[in-house]
Amino acid sequence: MTALTPRPGIMKIAPYVPGKDSVDGKETIAKLSSNEGALGPSPKAMAAYAKAAAELHRYPDGNAEKLRHAIGRHYGLDAARIVCGAGSDELLNLLVRAYCGPGDELLYSQFGFLMYPINALGVGATPVAAPETDYTANVDALLSKVTNKTRMVCLANPNNPTGSYVTKDDVRRLHSGLPKNVLLVIDAAYAEYVSRNDYESGVELVDQAENVVMTRTFSKIYGLGGLRLGWMYGPAGIVDVMSRLRQPFNVNLAAQIAGIAAMQDIAHTDASRTNNDIWLPWLSTELAKLGLKPLPSVGNFITVGFGSKERATAANDWLMNDGLIPRMIAGYGLPEHLRITIGTEAEVKAVQASLAKFVAASK
Ligand SMILES: *Cc1c(COP(=O)(O)O)cnc(C)c1O
Repeated sequence: MTALTPRPGIMKIAPYVPGKDSVDGKETIAKLSSNEGALGPSPKAMAAYAKAAAELHRYPDGNAEKLRHAIGRHYGLDAARIVCGAGSDELLNLLVRAYCGPGDELLYSQFGFLMYPINALGVGATPVAAPETDYTANVDALLSKVTNKTRMVCLANPNNPTGSYVTKDDVRRLHSGLPKNVLLVIDAAYAEYVSRNDYESGVELVDQAENVVMTRTFSKIYGLGGLRLGWMYGPAGIVDVMSRLRQPFNVNLAAQIAGIAAMQDIAHTDASRTNNDIWLPWLSTELAKLGLKPLPSVGNFITVGFGSKERATAANDWLMNDGLIPRMIAGYGLPEHLRITIGTEAEVKAVQASLAKFVAASK
């Protein structure tokens, strides 16, 4: 027995389990378990990363000046109100550390991203989940869970793992219903994939309010998950708080350089989006034809219902045996579903062919 005791809440955390990246005995695999961007990183980002090798003895720019200004130019935002992080995960974690503590409540949606409750427990706060409707965050349900202990509401929009999104009107309604001392965190990790005119990433709301921030990532459409790079856009007061709390060199040198190059390679980003625009609806239609239940998705992944936990597990094993790695999402309360990242044309077609055989074999 150790005399050391971690702070309350920490032992309640079920550690985050990342998507699998290998299958025993298989050399060629398609990793479709972490939504990493079908086309990989931009060749320009790879070249910039390689060039950075000779500078690795240098500390990175602690203020990520060039990167923040490049993000500001690219997205039309004030660079002074951008904070960069080692993935948006770091920023989501820092926000919780800054604004939540023991006794506070962090509100999120039933099938919302798992890092929100994990971050809450990490500071001794209580995660509170509001039920969803049709696998979509329900604004009224969220608002009805607000108490005088609520400090933060975390909304992934679009959401992972369901792929659903909340319309801009509903996000505004959610914000309007929150007390001014509750921070609304809009996690827009998949914003670049969405082309719906009733969707907005959160920029507009951040500009109108003191209690809203938006987080973004380079891990999805930009394909730089391995480098760990994300950013937050927020009101000056919150940016100031984050700048005090974050580590001075939280974003590494290679990430800063490659991130700029990735963002500037518009053709590569467009190709990634086009790949998704073609193969997401295709796979969704094909899986529905097989009698499976793909949830409507605006991200770069599809969550598919198999009707039972046993069948979802069998489908997972079947796909793995074909070298295709989906994501089991029982940890999200979705044991009857698998999440499958939209890969390249060949990968998506291999998924369809594999599941067609699975369905035929399990009839
Ligand atoms: C992938 C993902 C993130 C984390 O991205 P990083 O920037 O790699 O930390 C955040 N939120 C959601 C909803 C995600 O799916």
